[in-house]
Amino acid sequence: MRAVPISVVPGIEWPALLSPQGAARLSLMYQLDQSQWWPPEIIKQQQFIQIHQLLTHAFHTTRFYRHRLQDAGFNPKTRVTPEVFSVIPLLQREDIQLHLADMNSTAVPKDHGRVGYTESSGSTGKPVRIHSTSLSQFFWHAMTLRDHLWHDRDFTRNHAEIRVGVGDRTGKNWGYAVKVAFESGPSLMLDIKEPMDRQIQWIQEHRPAYLLTYPSNLREMAGRCLEQGIDFPGLIEMRAFGETVTEETREICRQAWGVGVKDMYSAMEIGYMALQCPGHEHYHVMSEGVFLEVLDDQGLPCRPGEIGRVVVTDLHNFATPLIRYEILDYAEVGEPCPCGRGLPVLKRILGRQRNMLRLPDGTCQWPAFSPRKWPHADRIQQVQIVQKALDHLVVRLVVHFPLAPEDEQAITRIIHDRSGHPLRVGFEYVDTIEKPKNFKFDIFVSEL
Ligand SMILES: [Zn+2]
Repeated sequence: MRAVPISVVPGIEWPALLSPQGAARLSLMYQLDQSQWWPPEIIKQQQFIQIHQLLTHAFHTTRFYRHRLQDAGFNPKTRVTPEVFSVIPLLQREDIQLHLADMNSTAVPKDHGRVGYTESSGSTGKPVRIHSTSLSQFFWHAMTLRDHLWHDRDFTRNHAEIRVGVGDRTGKNWGYAVKVAFESGPSLMLDIKEPMDRQIQWIQEHRPAYLLTYPSNLREMAGRCLEQGIDFPGLIEMRAFGETVTEETREICRQAWGVGVKDMYSAMEIGYMALQCPGHEHYHVMSEGVFLEVLDDQGLPCRPGEIGRVVVTDLHNFATPLIRYEILDYAEVGEPCPCGRGLPVLKRILGRQRNMLRLPDGTCQWPAFSPRKWPHADRIQQVQIVQKALDHLVVRLVVHFPLAPEDEQAITRIIHDRSGHPLRVGFEYVDTIEKPKNFKFDIFVSEL
């Protein structure tokens, strides 16, 4: 796609001369366009120059970090090294909940703009509510635009979203991330609370080129469309966020509509942490916005192929600095990407600790039980697998027709194969499986 930015100078259309906001956005995009191709060590070097700025600010203007950074051996007069950085204790959600007042900067630089609030969606427990600035928003929008440009989206087409907290409405354009620099087609919003049949009908009416929604919603929608032979003509791509995208999610979307899924990894309190590579199904870390570590149980960086805890530092939030924040997700580190980008690779994002299956032998795994491949998958409307004890799982099902005992046995065998353990598997038939308030739905949940 060749999108020409919006020119504001009379008589000049090309090359465009942009508004100050548009020019600022594209000046950042120009830099992001360059830095994505830098070698990893140069990217890291630049990150540590920015980390030094962040730490110095946190040291001087927050009581919480002053002690914490001092104890770790940080001295604002000496450039911070990766070694000093790596001994700063991890920041936990409880730290933010308990010490927020001491973590908020007493002197946010004026040029970072207005200070507001941002809140994690909090699928479980208390949400985290922190301060952030207009500047953080500016970076958020830039990464949104990067995602569009990476995936070569056609701004002239219409873009739909089905998510929490949006009314049934139409916008004139794709929103702030795009409109300061490019003309764009309409955006359409529908609340996720609408029943699936209504969602499908709405998509058929509006025929969006792109649809953004949660992976669990995509799976349900694709299942329903396959069952009823519904296609979405004009659909170019599904966009996912907010939950783990599994291989099965991608496969069912290809089956149902012949389109791919483009995923992104973000959190309200941080912004974008990783975006799907334009050429592959793994992710690139947004290293210009965050310093992202994947750490093993000893707190050491994971190598490619290893799974660890995601720990993230927001490079630009000077209102409530988040330094080495353990976001409670797990990810697998990937090999460098053949696309040539130097931005680090996450092979998979595995979700939260509660999505981890713990086994009697002390090992753990992120299960992919692939319900689409179960016998009579077409009879299963909804499924959730709950771990009740180390050796006990319960499969909760909403079904059109009850499954026969031999079907249950076949499912049990699949679970045994996938987990490699002879777990006890019970079956529970229910009318509906309630989704949490934020509609983030996990197929597998551990109650341990
Ligand atoms: Zn890549």
